[in-house]
Amino acid sequence: MTDCIFCKIVAGEIPSKKIYEDEKIIVINDLNPGAPVHVLIIPKEHTENILTASSNLLPYIQAKLGEIVKTLGIAEKGFRIVINTGEDGGQSVNHLHFHVLGGKTLGWPPC
Ligand code: AMP
Ligand code: ZN
Repeated sequence: MTDCIFCKIVAGEIPSKKIYEDEKIIVINDLNPGAPVHVLIIPKEHTENILTASSNLLPYIQAKLGEIVKTLGIAEKGFRIVINTGEDGGQSVNHLHFHVLGGKTLGWPPC
């Protein structure tokens, strides 16, 4: 998608710190981290949100998640995955992405 910031990151047109990459996803550091570890899992193919995503994407990400959180050093102590969706959900980039947060004890509720 031409005007999408995450499509531009996937295409390498905007620089990012890549933690992981394969044929379907990239994992990058969030520009404004909300925790000591804060990355975004971004599907390479543009889709707006979790409701529009193909049904095989979540199982794919789940299969890769163990390796990703191990690489980040947060597998043992735990982490949180957040999918902000739409206006009330606080989604600011309309290209589906999964926040992975960790590296400290996170507060709850997050609002
Ligand atoms: P959301 O508000 O859930 O749509 O999350 C969008 C996230 O993208 C925010 O946490 C931003 O800090 C992050 N973000 C925006 N632009 C960039 C960028 N160029 N590189 C890395 N993260 C970004
Ligand atoms: Zn996009």
